Amino acid sequence: MRRAIISDVHGNLQALQTVLEDIQSQNCDQIICLGDIIGYGPKPRECIDLVKDFDACILGNHDLAALFEPEGFSNAAEQAILWTRKQVESGDAPSACYQRLEFLAHLPRTRREGDLLFVHGSVRNPVNEYVFPEDVYNRRKMDKLFSMIPKLCFQGHTHVPGVFTSEMAFLRPDDIEGRYKISEEKAMINVGSVGQPRDGDWRSCYVILEEPWVSFRRIEYSVETTVQQIYDTPELDRFLGDRLRDGR
Ligand code: ZN
Repeated sequence: MRRAIISDVHGNLQALQTVLEDIQSQNCDQIICLGDIIGYGPKPRECIDLVKDFDACILGNHDLAALFEPEGFSNAAEQAILWTRKQVESGDAPSACYQRLEFLAHLPRTRREGDLLFVHGSVRNPVNEYVFPEDVYNRRKMDKLFSMIPKLCFQGHTHVPGVFTSEMAFLRPDDIEGRYKISEEKAMINVGSVGQPRDGDWRSCYVILEEPWVSFRRIEYSVETTVQQIYDTPELDRFLGDRLRDGR
């Protein structure tokens, strides 16, 4: 089985469409999304409509915030969430809006398949907890997380791709020539972000899992198209466009 695992689309339709073309060219049998379909980006409805047809999707903190009250977000993020909610709740025919809300409301917080776990943030707090590369220096946190995962945990949320090993290392895709070989060891694998990468590389990121290999892919998309769509939406801070160019 060859699976594409994507995360953090954030309403960036241009990026999502380009990644889906790549996934198709890679002959994947399944697509799984680890959440944050929406928030920040200019095309939330269109992105939900595409992700709805995937084999599985997990709930992200932005998906949740669009359904309920945004809490603990920066000002620009909160404004974007409120605008996003309006688009999803009432920016289309009532029946289409209802379908999208119903889809978001039924997203699970985790998915387990044998040795594999899929979450948005972390095994301990699936929707909200960040696991950053520098957390490898926080032994207590990492020990706790590793004790809770079956063998492999696929996650997103930080928008920084890489592999956390049980030896407390964080392997960036460039350190391992873009692919990680699954062994007997436990690992937490961050699949990166399709719609808003933050590792200094503006290209969309996702992984293909075909055991024993996890391959990280970087895909160029028309970033200026999305930047312009953000500029054209007064409710979205221009910074949300600017950051896409630098992958920050
Ligand atoms: Zn996110």
